[in-house]
Amino acid sequence: MEPISTEKFYGSKVREERKPKSNVCWVTHRTMPSHILGPTQYWQEFYKQADALAAATERSTKTDTLCTFVYQRASDGSRRFVVAHPEVYWWHYKARAQEERCSYEVIPEGSPCWLYLDLEYRMELNRHCDGSRMTSTLIDIIRAYLLNRYHLLCDRSNFLILDSTSSEKFSRHVIFTMKDVSFKDNSHVGRFVKTICSDIMLHLKSDVQTQGILSHFDKADIDEMLVETDRGKRLFIDHGVYTKNRHFRLYLSTKWGKQSYLTVSTDCTHMPVNKCREKDLGIFLDSLISYFPDKHHLILLEFFNQSDVKTRLYTRATPTQSTHEDEKQKRASPYPELDRYVRGIVDPGKIRVARYSDKTKTLRYEIYGNRYCENIGRCHKSNNVYWIVDLNQKAMYQKCHDADCSGFASAPKSLPEEIVFMLDTEGDTLISRAEIDEEVAHKHI
Ligand SMILES: [Zn+2]
Repeated sequence: MEPISTEKFYGSKVREERKPKSNVCWVTHRTMPSHILGPTQYWQEFYKQADALAAATERSTKTDTLCTFVYQRASDGSRRFVVAHPEVYWWHYKARAQEERCSYEVIPEGSPCWLYLDLEYRMELNRHCDGSRMTSTLIDIIRAYLLNRYHLLCDRSNFLILDSTSSEKFSRHVIFTMKDVSFKDNSHVGRFVKTICSDIMLHLKSDVQTQGILSHFDKADIDEMLVETDRGKRLFIDHGVYTKNRHFRLYLSTKWGKQSYLTVSTDCTHMPVNKCREKDLGIFLDSLISYFPDKHHLILLEFFNQSDVKTRLYTRATPTQSTHEDEKQKRASPYPELDRYVRGIVDPGKIRVARYSDKTKTLRYEIYGNRYCENIGRCHKSNNVYWIVDLNQKAMYQKCHDADCSGFASAPKSLPEEIVFMLDTEGDTLISRAEIDEEVAHKHI
């Protein structure tokens, strides 16, 4: 796939002719003032995430660390991947109109990253909740774990808190920042956070006084972190943000079509790690999960399980191997977001195995624990059902292993918009459509 020219990002002639609805014109062909000690001006756009990630690795040097970003075009929501130095990305990004700032950082698989948290709950179900106090309890618990497991002493000023809470949803990103300290990659962060969460749940369920880290906290404060959801009481911590090549929304960005921007929360007492003359640039750099300008002195934190915790120097670390958890892999498709969605649909059933066919662009999810079949309107006694997700149609439907149901397919359900956006990490379906559109356009010319 050919990289996309710089012009496309700023708006090509075709775009201008289309006349954007708002009066905001994209600044075309602005050039960032550069000086000899400044970051590289490299800027390249890609349709495919894999191409962008490869370019970022290839073009990064000792002095210039490039990152991969993904932005959604305000006009049609289609996505582009950008490889650039964060300072260069920031320079172009901040100049864009608010509603055009719909950007995410791609946290590359196997790359060092900071501990990050995605906190959320629905407002209407949780009127009584004090999100600020809950955040601060959670930060204190994480500090206690970092001290206990890694002998890392930190205070609240190490935590950057970004907020995009709206009247519907409480929504925060919390990032633990410390100079020259990071987790080995986001799978270690995920295991660390999930372990803390399961400790919390166990602690809340047990009546007896426990001995662990959590016994130093007021149980009422911990209990307060449970929120009402459509599926019962849960912690307000989203576990699903530690998947491979995860997209994490940028400082000052909004979700596409929404108007809630991530800004520094009023109760944030963060001390900058990247000290910049321009304050906002400093916040932007600190908020990037996987940007480390100098990895040479980086200390990597590893977390395998409760009893297997390590720290090592980046320069001595072996590259991450993706051999572990084979069994878990079988149950995962190349689209973790979609897996999560399907899991919700088939609940209380579980995914036994997920198979992806590149040829037909479909996924097949074999289910156990829930034999409900739409054909008979009840559960089968012995045969299991399965679900097909059609990435071309962006829809899913249920099929069945029972002989009486052979040939049956339920009415297709459309995948929700946010899933369509997230699952399209490789841009395959969008691109194929974009290419066709382009071909048609050429024919007209
Ligand atoms: Zn059936």
